[in-house]
Amino acid sequence: MGLRTGLMLDPECLLHDPGPQHPESPQRLSTLIEMVQSPGMRSLPLTRLEHRSATEAEVLRAHTPALLARLKATQGHTVHLDQDTMASPKSYDCALRAAGATVAAVDAVFAGQVDNAMVLVRPPGHHAEADRAMGFCLLNNVAIAAHHARSVLGLARVAIVDFDVHHGNGTQAIFERDPTVLYVSTHQWPLYPGTGAADSLGSGAGLGRTINIPLGAEHGDAEYDAIYGGLIARILEQFRPELILVSAGYDISEHDPLGGMSVTYDGFARIAGHMVNAAELLCKNRVVAVLEGGYSAAGLTTGVHATLEALTGAVRVDDPRGPLVRLPLGDAGRHLHLYREFFAI
Ligand SMILES: [Zn+2]
Repeated sequence: MGLRTGLMLDPECLLHDPGPQHPESPQRLSTLIEMVQSPGMRSLPLTRLEHRSATEAEVLRAHTPALLARLKATQGHTVHLDQDTMASPKSYDCALRAAGATVAAVDAVFAGQVDNAMVLVRPPGHHAEADRAMGFCLLNNVAIAAHHARSVLGLARVAIVDFDVHHGNGTQAIFERDPTVLYVSTHQWPLYPGTGAADSLGSGAGLGRTINIPLGAEHGDAEYDAIYGGLIARILEQFRPELILVSAGYDISEHDPLGGMSVTYDGFARIAGHMVNAAELLCKNRVVAVLEGGYSAAGLTTGVHATLEALTGAVRVDDPRGPLVRLPLGDAGRHLHLYREFFAI
């Protein structure tokens, strides 16, 4: 079955400039814009979605007024927000655009304009905490969209699945006490930012609604296929989300200069394909994948192409069969006992 996939991109996001030699460069997005406009991509039935900027009210569902004021004050200036996070004169505008595009993509899916969507924007978001910009991230795009889905669309349960090579400390911190938002992350361990241990499972009412799957380097297509199709799909089936947001970080690519994983086109198609399968089963196909990291042109283009093919249904994947313990889960297998306290997997 073919799916109607929305493509959200805002070329104005190119104007966020963290400076020369910075890995989170405008070229990351210009490469992807060129790719999606190339003749080879025209066979994919993508619907271009209309972008907009986030409102301050939307941002303030996930962030503090102090952070918003601090970012707003960077307009027209170049400011070091932390050691590796920069704001250039237009960065505040770009951050509002990236968050607003993510919210608008969720709205397009719920309006029935498309079944699922991919959002290609920058700056990325998953390291941004409620009160702090960090790790190349200014505003947490996915967290703002999840809050929108809860508050405005009235959803009872939203899942955020994060395959970036780094742990999404910001997303976890924003929702770790919230039982209505499930955050599941695979990430390389140890690596920046140092959070995301397997026994970090949320707190208070949100206990068991954070699932961290830290992995040593060199995990590749087979392990990601087993983890996403075997382990994470089963967790999602029990949580029963009404929307799946994907923090899509292509720094798990075999080509990435910052990450140590070895995922290829096939692995990216399988990760996205498993999320498409879960969304078909659980939430009327509602998946919105949002660009996070990914610092090589080859990794970005290969990965985003594979994700789009899976979202449109051009490639379909089978769920891995058999008992969980027999699947090639890599390091994830060592922590099953922790996840089993909350999910019957
Ligand atoms: Zn990353």
